[in-house]
Amino acid sequence: MIPPPFEYVRPRTIPDAIALLQQRGESAKILSGGQSLIPMMKIRLAKPECLIDINQIEGLQYIKEDNGYLKIGGLTREADLEASDLVRTRYPILFDTATLIADPQVRNLATLGGNLAHGDPANDHPATMLALGAEVVAVGPEGERVIPVKDFFISVLTTALRHGEILTEVRIPIPPTRSAGAYVKLERKVGDFATVGVAAQLTLSADGLCQQAGIGLTNVGSTPLKATGAGDFLRGKTVDEATVQRAAQLAAEVAEPISDLRGPAEYKSAMVKELTKRALTRARERVVL
Ligand SMILES: Cc1cc2nc3c(=O)[nH]c(=O)nc-3n(C[C@H](O)[C@H](O)[C@H](O)COP(=O)(O)OP(=O)(O)OC[C@H]3O[C@@H](n4cnc5c(N)ncnc54)[C@H](O)[C@@H]3O)c2cc1C
Repeated sequence: MIPPPFEYVRPRTIPDAIALLQQRGESAKILSGGQSLIPMMKIRLAKPECLIDINQIEGLQYIKEDNGYLKIGGLTREADLEASDLVRTRYPILFDTATLIADPQVRNLATLGGNLAHGDPANDHPATMLALGAEVVAVGPEGERVIPVKDFFISVLTTALRHGEILTEVRIPIPPTRSAGAYVKLERKVGDFATVGVAAQLTLSADGLCQQAGIGLTNVGSTPLKATGAGDFLRGKTVDEATVQRAAQLAAEVAEPISDLRGPAEYKSAMVKELTKRALTRARERVVL
């Protein structure tokens, strides 16, 4: 299918891209990897009159630890995350997530910024970013804003980004020692969107008790969901079979799945419980005490 006609511009700087967004108004959209926007244009779910391609802007593709954060540029591709030794060795939850998205062709183009800015509750990174307590940096006509990911997702395909703003960076607080996480995903076939996905990030104390637990859920609500009660329940406790079981139940109670082609709502709720158990267990196994 062929998308409707559109104007195409390729600014070389962020200020130029912001100016273009303002000039062209609401009918203009940022184009990053195009892996969500172009398919939506083909099926007429999006009809932007102008695409502002930011791929020529330098300095938006990086992965680095700096000043207490893992900082990832908005244009960083899934393939960059997959290939990064830093991500693989120090952020296994992020490595899990990137490698479970779509297929290698999509991952060569799709960006982390686009995955979050798209605001699709079926996308995988949002749950992981909720579990990690991440923030996004948005740059617009009024300057820079830092938005906690927990406040970023408003409703289906709607985020806290304002028209004129570009997501330039994702910031993940560097987890303390004795931390680890995991992302697990149930999909109908390899490369599919999640039927259910669960991200879990744990920090343990020296004596093995849970200090911090972040749990994010994919595709079981109109936004990605944070299972705050489940994380709070684990704090101060040993992460063992009994507490994991209870936390998984609490996570399932947060989910608001709908019945669709991926399965009935009851099945999805049951899968949230099972996948939460698996994600917490894998995260616990990965913590080096
Ligand atoms: C076959 C296929 C399978 C897929 N499977 C999965 C999957 O399993 N899991 C998953 O998570 N995703 C999946 N996706 C979706 C896709 O990977 C993500 O949504 C993608 O990462 C979006 O990033 P992009 O760079 O391609 O964004 P684009 O398509 O370029 O843009 C998406 C939206 O975000 C906006 N946007 C993009 N970048 C910015 C920015 N820096 N600042 C402000 N706004 C911006 C655009 O204007 C647009 O509205 C799949 C896609 C395809 C085609």
